[in-house]
Parts: sequence; C-alpha cells; structure tokens
Amino acid sequence: MKKFSSFSLLALCLAFVGSSVNGQSQRWQQSINYQMDVDMDVATNRYTGTQTIAYANHSPDTLRRVFFHLYYNAFQPNSMMDERSRSIADPDRRVGERILNLRPEEIGYMRVKRLHMNGQPVSMEEVGTILEVDLPEPILPNSTVLFESEFEAQVPLQVRRAGRDNAEGIRYSMAQWYPKLANYDEQGWHAHAYIGREFYGTWGNFDVKITLDKAYVLGGTGYLQNAAEIGHGYESAGQTVPETDESTRTWHFYAPRVHDFMWAADPEFTHDTRQMDNGITLHFFYEKNSKTEKNWAALQEYTEKAMAYFSEHYGEYPYRQFSVVQGGDGGMEYPMSTLITGHRTLGSLVGVMVHELAHSWFQGVLGSNESLYPWMDEGFTTFASNRCMAAIFSEEPSDFPQRGAYASYERLVQSGLEEPMATHADHYHTNTAYGVAAYSKGALFLSQMGYIIGEEVRDRAMLQYWDQWKFRHPNANDITRVMEKASGLELDWFKEYWVYTTNTIDYAIASVSEENGKTKILLERKGRMPMPIDLVVTYRDGEQETIYLPLEMMRGGKNSEAGFPEITQVHKWPWTHRSMELQLDRPVAAVRNLSIDPSLRLADVNRENNEWVNE
Ligand SMILES: [Zn+2]
Repeated sequence: MKKFSSFSLLALCLAFVGSSVNGQSQRWQQSINYQMDVDMDVATNRYTGTQTIAYANHSPDTLRRVFFHLYYNAFQPNSMMDERSRSIADPDRRVGERILNLRPEEIGYMRVKRLHMNGQPVSMEEVGTILEVDLPEPILPNSTVLFESEFEAQVPLQVRRAGRDNAEGIRYSMAQWYPKLANYDEQGWHAHAYIGREFYGTWGNFDVKITLDKAYVLGGTGYLQNAAEIGHGYESAGQTVPETDESTRTWHFYAPRVHDFMWAADPEFTHDTRQMDNGITLHFFYEKNSKTEKNWAALQEYTEKAMAYFSEHYGEYPYRQFSVVQGGDGGMEYPMSTLITGHRTLGSLVGVMVHELAHSWFQGVLGSNESLYPWMDEGFTTFASNRCMAAIFSEEPSDFPQRGAYASYERLVQSGLEEPMATHADHYHTNTAYGVAAYSKGALFLSQMGYIIGEEVRDRAMLQYWDQWKFRHPNANDITRVMEKASGLELDWFKEYWVYTTNTIDYAIASVSEENGKTKILLERKGRMPMPIDLVVTYRDGEQETIYLPLEMMRGGKNSEAGFPEITQVHKWPWTHRSMELQLDRPVAAVRNLSIDPSLRLADVNRENNEWVNE
C-alpha cells in the first residue's frame, strides 16, 4: 500500500467552484476530483491503489449515504452479469457462460479495504458491484468532503469490455478499474449494478499515477505529465529519455473535466502520434504485425478527418488529445479515448473508430445518463457517425446514410420484440430490443426530427444543443426543448410517442378521384402514431410540388427545405381525424405520381400504401 500523498483539499475545492449552474438553467450537478495512485503486478494481474476524492455537493439535499461502483466484481460466477448472460433469450456471445467458468485467478474483484470521510471511518457493505456506504456525518448542501481509501483488485480475464489478455493478446484493457462514485442528480442516486451496459458519472479532474513493469507502454484518457521521463513516443522531438535502473515506471496522467478514466497497457504497443493543425494530438496504440500494420497506418488520416467533421457539425472537441487503442472486445468509448479490436478490414476499423469517436460528443461531453437514455448516446452517435462515414469514407457518398437504421427499426417492429425506448438499458427483455432501440430507433429520433422541423434547422439546433448542454447531462426533455426553440414548433408529442411508446407510423393514400376537372386525394392515418406529412406530387410535365400537412398540435410548420419540392399548400391535420381530403387544381390525367415522403425520412412501417402511380 502506498501512503496517501499530500493532496490539498483546498486545491480540490477551488478547482470546481461555480461549475454547477450557468445562465441557461438552474439545474445543479455534483463535482468530483480524483487522485489515484496504483501499483500493478503484471505477474499476478493484481493491483493495489489509494484513492483521494474531493466531492462537492451542489445539490439542495443533505446526503447521508453514498455509493461506489466496483465493476470488476461482475466477473465472478453467479454475479448479476453472469446470471443475466445465461438467462436472457439472446445472450451476448462475448459473455455467454464465460463468467461462470472463470477460475479463481481469472475472475475480477475489487475490494475497498479502508474508506474514510474527512478522516473518520465509514460503515460500508459490498453488495455485488456496488459498495453501499453510510456516512459518519451527513454531507450538507454546498459543502465539500474528502474521501480517502485503499483498494485492491484483480484484473479479470477479458470477458466484456475490460480485462486482461483479450482475444488479440493485448495484456491490459483497463476500463471500469477503480472504485467510482455513483452519480447523484435531480433524479437521485444512480447506483446501478453492473449487469451489461452503459455508464454514468460525475464530471471532475482525474490525477492518476500508475506504476508497473517498465517494459509496458500505456495509453488512454488524459495527458501524460512526465513524458520526458517516460518516452515511448510521448517525448518531444529530439528529447533524450534517461534510462532507468528500476524494474518499474510510474506513469502520471492528468485528465481535466472527464467523467471516467481508461488506460491500456501492453509491452508490444507501437505508439504513433499525429498532430492536427488545431493543436489536438491523436495517439494510436497497437501491436504492429501483418494484421494491423497497413490498416492502422491508414486509420490515422481518417481519424483526423473524423475529428474535424464532428467538431464542425456537433461542436468543438474540448480536449487536447484523443487516443485510439487496440484492446477491449469490439469498440467502446471512454473520455478522450477508445478501445477497439485491431484485426479488421480498413472499412471496419474506420467505421468503429468513427462511431467511438462520435461518442466523445454524446457520451463524453454531453454525458446523458446512458442507463436511462441509452438512445441519446448510442442513437445520436449512430446518426452522427453514419453521416460522417458518408462524408469522409464512402467512395460513393450516400444521400441517405441512415437507411440502415430505418431498416433495422422496421425489422424490430416486425419481430414483435420492440419495447419502449424509455426502458432502462439493462432492463430490456432481450439484447435485440435494447440494441435496435438504442442505436437505430435513437438515430431515427434525430433523422425524423429533420423531417419534422427541416434538416437545416435540426443541424443548427444540434450545435445549440452542444452549447447549452455540454458537460451538463441532458435528458429527453432537454433535447426536445432545444429542437422546439430552434424551430418554434411544439414537439412534445413526438418525444412522447417515439420515446415512451411502441406505437408505429403508417400513412396511406386511400383514394384518388376527379371532380370538376380537379384531382381529389384522400390521405389516411392507419398507424397509431401521428406525424406531419409531406405529400409530393409529380405531374406529367415533370413539375413537382409538396403538399404539407403539419399536425395541428405542432402550432406551426417547417419551411420548404433545400433539395425538396417547394411547399405549395399547407393543411393543418388534427391528430383525432383519421383522414384528410386534398385537392389539386389539375385533372387526374395531369398527375403522374403521388408519394408520401419520398425522402424516406418518415419511419412509416408500411410504405406500400405511400405511393400512387397513374398508370
Ligand atoms: Zn456506441
């Protein structure tokens, strides 16, 4: 055990004063500063650590208990993660029965040996992956307390996300590796057990020292503070790194304003860096061999392009570095970094990197509660990364990069497995229902928002979302309000139906007839969910117009959109009315084709009745 280093409580307190509110809203948030010092034994895969936390209670509440996540306890036979993986109808193949079969030296564990608050011992109980703590004295509103602890842990053989010796032979993928204080917000504590998915944390500064065998190369979250001493590609050009006689090295990282900290280590990591014009340094860590060499070299330029793309369209990346690290079991996002498996085709490698990098905006900096609103992270990330891939990678850029998300949502509806998108990420009945709701139906929240309020307004609103909610944990209401303010429209009905129900959309062209030389069209709402309708008319002479039917409850409508036929008629549709009748000034013979939403942005589950062709 290391001794607690001298760490100034005052400095910790001062660092975060005033971060809880700004002029936009009075919502408060807690703040935290971690200082950790860990010692890893690479022979036993066990480590010990000390942790000092300054925790500021900006809430109006007096806190008598706190909760820590002890994630590595999930990797033990009969844990909640193990039980769930074996009983769910469609198990994650990466987990299956692997936890049940872990041997004692392969399980993970995390034990807090000692925990003090302001110098007094607390009363604590380890309950699976959560440490329940009764405090010796309450934490009053607007006060800061100091937690000091000692912990010991064993890195599990990699099963899911974190662990040692993954399928590609990377020694350490160190995510979810320290006792992490659960977040407390206006909805209370979020001490969710580690069962399968998604995280939520309090923003703060992480000061982390990691000591291990000097042969290892480390990368992940944060800025290396002792680069000149460490070398391994971190040192400045031309700098000479002194040799050490010690068998270990201590790596000192600092990460400001993040809600988590990941590191990875391997003795065979190659470390490449790429400097961007805007001052951001991109780091790449991978084991160089025939399966990685070519594609990891090519990946670097795409990472730079993606970073520039997301900064332009979703808000300026607020950190000085991003690390792409070979490790983990697929692709997983962490602040300033990602762990991705490395033996991939270039398309797959770039696609996963782009997805994980996009998370830096939605998971990393907006930081919505991923357990309660997984779709605001995975869905928005999917939406943004589909657009980015179309812009920077595809040889034939698609004009409809969300096509796959619509198809996936429609398959889920057909399967009968759909559950409301408001379901807690761990509590869906099947992995399929979770995955499609979070990734695809979540992407369609933004894609359909473009249909409802107009693409340009939606895109401008995404930058306003960033400005108003970065570092502030937005929820479903917050994103909806941003879209309402940007468009001047009422959009609560869309959120209510799309997020809280499984009602589906189906509109139809019920009939077309002629009266006094004019064309009469009857539109019908067949699905339960109401939506505004773009009806595009194509005449025999090639002319096109859009007849626009906003819902009456939107209290307005969008303008004509660039790239779409101009809106020539507007009819407000009261949602109670199953059908609406329209009229064109020309006879039926002049009409070639009628189409409900030819842009395909409306998630209409039955498109067969959306078209009428004048044979
Ligand atoms: Zn993701």
